[in-house]
Amino acid sequence: MTVIGASFNANEELPTTFPLIDTHTHFDAPVFDADRDEQLQRACQQSIRHLVLVGYLQRHFQRLYDTERLINERYPSSITGQSDSPQQPPLNAHIALGLHPFYIEQHTEAHLQNMSQMLDKKRPLAIGEIGFDTFADEMKQPKMFAKQEYFFNAQLDMAVSHKLPVMLHIRKAHAEALALLKAHDYDAHKLGGIAHSFSGGEQEAKAFVKLGFKLGVTGQVTNPNAKKLRRAIQAAVASDGIECLVIETDCPDMTPIMCQDSGGSQSALGQSPDNEWGNAPAHNRNVPANLPWVLLCLSELLDVPPAILAEQLWHNSCNALQTDWRYPA
Ligand SMILES: [Zn+2]
Repeated sequence: MTVIGASFNANEELPTTFPLIDTHTHFDAPVFDADRDEQLQRACQQSIRHLVLVGYLQRHFQRLYDTERLINERYPSSITGQSDSPQQPPLNAHIALGLHPFYIEQHTEAHLQNMSQMLDKKRPLAIGEIGFDTFADEMKQPKMFAKQEYFFNAQLDMAVSHKLPVMLHIRKAHAEALALLKAHDYDAHKLGGIAHSFSGGEQEAKAFVKLGFKLGVTGQVTNPNAKKLRRAIQAAVASDGIECLVIETDCPDMTPIMCQDSGGSQSALGQSPDNEWGNAPAHNRNVPANLPWVLLCLSELLDVPPAILAEQLWHNSCNALQTDWRYPA
């Protein structure tokens, strides 16, 4: 049996990379303020061609737009997908707007209304991240869960009316999420959608794929101890093919194991109530340039050559995000 990551060394340079789409980042977070430009250049060198900045709190929506503009101005030739200079490959930023279930206490009706106005004003690529999070015990309280349910449904309604794909955040509530999605008009077969940082079991993985969602795979797959996750991915691929997957960094979280300074310790930056990752040790912070490690470990897990997997993941991402970005030659 393959031991994931066993053939990769922490200090090794990445082998030749392939054009990739980072489908889920928080690259607008202040933890990147000091070296965002340098990290963008590193991402370009690792062939990251698109990255999605994903929303979680209304008070940071403007920051998403600002960061998107900053990146697209930094790489002006990338707007058309063309690059004038071979030294500067195109990198495009996009945004998803959404009110994250983990911060449910902070969301208000006014935030939903503001989000709806922003959707009209400047269409994002997707809605997200939205869903259920019952990781903490207090989130399971009926009142709190009902509020999550209300915001989940309201944002799915917006996705339907604006014909936008959604980015799902589901933690310890997969059955509840599946039930809600089945009862809702949102049709992922038509609108796309990603079950971001998928963490459920085999049956749940297949159930989300059956509903039309792609499973978002993060740096967690690089951890040899993530056995449940590896089995879920393998089971979904056995039943539905590699067409059901996309990859993401979810930076600054989910640092691939070979990119962590201390070797074995999980990055576990987690989501703090302010979610600004201010106390996160910078050396263990995940960055978009780490995405090829997810590709390589997934390639090893599924026994699919990286070149073939990378191209398929590109098309899967376009499908999930309802775009038609050309695969770079
Ligand atoms: Zn996220």
